Amino acid sequence: MAEWDRTVDLLVMGSGAAGMGAAVRGHDLGLDVLLVEKSDLYGGNSAMSGGVCWVANNPGMAKEGIEDSDEDGFRYLKHITKGEVPDEMLWLYVRESKRVLAYLHDKTHVRYVPLAKYTDYYPEAPGGRPGGRSMDPLPFDGAKLREDLIRLRRPHPQSQILGKFGITAREAQAAIGVGFKTMLFMAWQMFLYGLRYFKRKRWGRDTKLCAGNSLMGRLLYSLKERSVPAWLNTGVTELVFEEGKVVGAVLDKEGTPLRVKANRGVLLAAGGFSRNLEMREQYQRRPITTEWTAGTPSNTGDAIRMGRDAGAALGLMDEAWWTPVSLVPKSPFSWVLVVEKSLPHGLFVNQAGRRFTNEAAPYIDVVNGMYDDVARTGAADPRWFHMFDASYRKSSVAGPIAPGKVMPDKQLPRRYRDGNYLYRADTIEELCEQLKIPAATVKATIARFNEYARKGEDPDFNRGWSAQDRYYGDPRVKPNCSLGPIETAPFYAVQIYPGDLGTKGGLLTDAHARVLKQDGDPIPGLYAAGNSTASVMGRTYPGAGGTIGPALTFGFLAAEDAAAQRTNEERQEAAE
Ligand SMILES: Cc1cc2nc3c(=O)[nH]c(=O)nc-3n(C[C@H](O)[C@H](O)[C@H](O)COP(=O)(O)OP(=O)(O)OC[C@H]3O[C@@H](n4cnc5c(N)ncnc54)[C@H](O)[C@@H]3O)c2cc1C
Repeated sequence: MAEWDRTVDLLVMGSGAAGMGAAVRGHDLGLDVLLVEKSDLYGGNSAMSGGVCWVANNPGMAKEGIEDSDEDGFRYLKHITKGEVPDEMLWLYVRESKRVLAYLHDKTHVRYVPLAKYTDYYPEAPGGRPGGRSMDPLPFDGAKLREDLIRLRRPHPQSQILGKFGITAREAQAAIGVGFKTMLFMAWQMFLYGLRYFKRKRWGRDTKLCAGNSLMGRLLYSLKERSVPAWLNTGVTELVFEEGKVVGAVLDKEGTPLRVKANRGVLLAAGGFSRNLEMREQYQRRPITTEWTAGTPSNTGDAIRMGRDAGAALGLMDEAWWTPVSLVPKSPFSWVLVVEKSLPHGLFVNQAGRRFTNEAAPYIDVVNGMYDDVARTGAADPRWFHMFDASYRKSSVAGPIAPGKVMPDKQLPRRYRDGNYLYRADTIEELCEQLKIPAATVKATIARFNEYARKGEDPDFNRGWSAQDRYYGDPRVKPNCSLGPIETAPFYAVQIYPGDLGTKGGLLTDAHARVLKQDGDPIPGLYAAGNSTASVMGRTYPGAGGTIGPALTFGFLAAEDAAAQRTNEERQEAAE
């Protein structure tokens, strides 16, 4: 019989949305839970994220006057997943995500409000909605976490206004542009930031938590309130089996090996493998690297490897939550082109100077467009650029570069200009010379695009047709707020890459989040949730929050199934 250093009911690997949600639920069901986190910070990608959670027919929608139904939620998911996900799993998600959301609101500090105008990513698809299913976490006062505040992973730098404070998704839309309203909003936020000076001094960072930091701050607060142990700097290194059942795990706790027995199971919630080059090269399309992900360095596929070695079946390993990104000098994370890709007076071209996709499409589709482009052109050194003109530059952001009205070219730090990040030239020819792409083709591409922009339609790629494309458009630009000609000098470009928000392939699981073997049977005692699993969303992305919604939901389902298991001792007692 193995020697154990500690015995618990449920061992949770990873402190992201999937792991922390499960730990809270497991505790509330009476389980003795231990959560372990490999890195020195809580929260994983979930803390760096927008924190948005996608739930069809959520109760907040009715309050906003938006009609929805479970049937439409299912119809939508069935349509966009294109038959790759069994109906019962889609129904499960529609039903259970609502229940989990209600539980989080009732029993924990997590609070979501629907983004009434944030469209599904395919709002025109059967069952799609023009808003309300994507939900935004309400801001949270990080001071409540006290010393734990500095142990919460910081937000992605691109979500920090002036590198200082966060805003909610709802506020973000108001903050786009450089109009009077935006200036007023910013001034007000700066004033509030000033008021938090003493709190900031006391707790070591700004205390207004928004987006993913709010979600994870709220979950961490709920976990600590329940006194659930959550160990940092503690990685799961090995699963322990007895007669084919997972009975515990070996941990590396700050360099010391510890054997932990888990009577009701081990939950693998250690995120995906976006930072594991070997796995990315083994499973994914080329070009691929670990440098283009926007997420945390600690997501190295540990859970997926452990499950795979235990005989688990894998799915969707070639997939990720793709998004076009740029590489900002001195930033350890790539920057996501959420807003930029939809703004008028800009387009994307490849190394041949041609457009290759609808730039304003959901980000997962834009990157699929990049990979399709590689397959089509056979380019040995594929490169892509976001190109725009002075009208764009004047009033729109480009990664860390604020609109020209606020941050004129002359004031740009050297690390951003002269092709270090932003390329600039007085003519298209000169710009193309800098980018080493054919000017004649680019000029023809732009001429065609400008003709479309003036008519407000894009017969090549349908940009601006969907309400999703127009969400971040500029309403002042007519007839289509996502399409504006590129005609005013100087001209600019930023190189873009096929990046991701995390990977979405991994262990196959069932309706109870049990990890499945190749033959479809569960591996007893082993659960998985979040990006350690093959996503219930298949190869698609239903809307903002389409990853955190399932992470929370399947984390809950795992904890509930574990709580329903009887330990050997209980079984014996029942038999006697
Ligand atoms: C900039 C950005 C914005 C995003 N916005 C959104 C959004 O608004 N909505 C949405 O749905 N998704 C969003 N995403 C994606 C989302 O963040 C992830 O898909 C989601 O957070 C994954 O949750 P998770 O619990 O599976 O993993 P994570 O939150 O990544 O947590 C996994 C944790 O496991 C730990 N771990 C790894 N190995 C071990 C080990 N051996 N032992 C112990 N612990 C280990 C990691 O250190 C990490 O802390 C965004 C991502 C980024 C980067």
